[in-house]
Amino acid sequence: MSVLVSNFINGEVVQSTSGRTLELFNPANGELRGKVQLSTPQEALSAVAVAKNAQLEWQATPPLQRARVMFKFKALLEQHADEMATLITQEHGKVHSDALGELTRGLEVVEFACGIPHLLKGEHSLNVGREIDSHSMMQPVGVCVGITPFNFPVMVPLWMIPVSLACGNSFILKPSEKDPSVSLMLADLLQQAGLPDGVFNVVQGDKEVVDALLESKDVAAVSFVGSTPIAEAIYAKGSANGKRVQALGGAKNHLVVMPDADLEGATNAIMGAAYGAAGERCMAISVAVAVGDDTADRLVASLKEKVEALRVGPGLGVTPENEMGPLISKPHMNKVKEYIQSGVDQGATLVVDGRGIEPASPGYFVGGTLFDDVTPDMTIYKDEIFGPVLSVVRAKDYQQALQFINDHEFGNGTAIFTRDGDTARDFTEQVQIGMVGVNVPIPVPMAFHSFGGWKRSIFGPLNVHGNDGVRFYTRMKTVTARWPKGQRESEFVMPTMK
Ligand code: NAD
Repeated sequence: MSVLVSNFINGEVVQSTSGRTLELFNPANGELRGKVQLSTPQEALSAVAVAKNAQLEWQATPPLQRARVMFKFKALLEQHADEMATLITQEHGKVHSDALGELTRGLEVVEFACGIPHLLKGEHSLNVGREIDSHSMMQPVGVCVGITPFNFPVMVPLWMIPVSLACGNSFILKPSEKDPSVSLMLADLLQQAGLPDGVFNVVQGDKEVVDALLESKDVAAVSFVGSTPIAEAIYAKGSANGKRVQALGGAKNHLVVMPDADLEGATNAIMGAAYGAAGERCMAISVAVAVGDDTADRLVASLKEKVEALRVGPGLGVTPENEMGPLISKPHMNKVKEYIQSGVDQGATLVVDGRGIEPASPGYFVGGTLFDDVTPDMTIYKDEIFGPVLSVVRAKDYQQALQFINDHEFGNGTAIFTRDGDTARDFTEQVQIGMVGVNVPIPVPMAFHSFGGWKRSIFGPLNVHGNDGVRFYTRMKTVTARWPKGQRESEFVMPTMK
């Protein structure tokens, strides 16, 4: 069955007239699944016009009613979870249970948005001056746009959509062109949940439509998640055009293993964090910093055994389920293999080479790869590889480990594994990173906290979901009011002008 992924505008699936399409493949076997349409700038602008119009009525809908749509949306997502996860696996490649995990993390943001009447309460002060009161209102910003990456085709859109809609905005999603099908399921479920037509729209496409959206005067806010160079460009262009922008970029997440750590626990944690979703996670651990040579030797030996035993293959239809699926595309697979070669050429020790893997299925697979003796000058250390390649860096002490992390250009996530409270406390305070784990390998904040990195992993002051998300999708207005005292006494004489 061949799919043709189109737009969803004003409550309907709408075909693009551009004639431009991109092919979609199943990464587990390389088979052609169908095509996605690449819309024209005019089609993107027609979605903006629809969203602008629909937003006015939606903004006037009481927050409690907007929350009820979110409650229904949550129930529908749960009902269709298996179907959605299957679609994610077919297009992205991650194993089915991991696709379900992604959906759960997105669903938690919907749950957060169900509390929107509380989140929009604002502030109130009595008697800011004599008989003068002040209160703030958090009003929607208008038409919001989300531009999302391939690696979480449901979770990342759900970082944005529920909060934006619950705040009273309309939303246009521009999904990744690599795995866009599930975006239309989101649109369908939102419609079934009772969201009025036009409040949520999907425009498929590439740079052409993104540029049109960034240039439209009717778009108020843009949330972007993707690679750092594009994030930086989107932030610059969107801000120059007067939009509110949050642009989350790439990562190189380090996990420090201290000599006193539970090594078996740390190794198990690293395995999931480095190789889950084939390393295609912005919070994947791609560098393990072992403190002391003894720690490094023990860690590498333990990792080697586990990496060699990784079950790699298709994410669907295999029992027991594989632990790691394919990469998103053939070009990406080739790029990851080139990175592995560059590590070898630049002098790192290749402990496990994933290039030679031969899974039962002819997809875009690279097996788990492990390097030792990696140093900060190497390309495999500096770049985000976005594949199942883990580098072990040897640090002489804790301070050097900390320095490695703080000197890196990215600042998304990090973790430390230790039994020592002093070290852990110092680490959480000194490390220049946005999301920090202590004996937790992937410290992705829950929906009621906010997600975002530091340094070149984010552009813009506000993170996604949690309180920052509500701030991002609302504009605060503060009212200061004095009311006339009115009539104090009844008068029984004939009124005359005084
Ligand atoms: P990408 O930057 O290639 O694409 C992201 C989005 O931008 C897609 O919708 C794409 O169509 C669009 N896009 C691509 N080129 C564009 C251009 N020139 N102009 C305008 N729009 C353009 O990213 P990707 O490969 O889909 O995703 C992987 C990247 O996303 C990794 O770097 C990963 O770290 C990052 N990521 C970051 C986070 C985070 O929270 N920081 C989360 C997930 C993914």
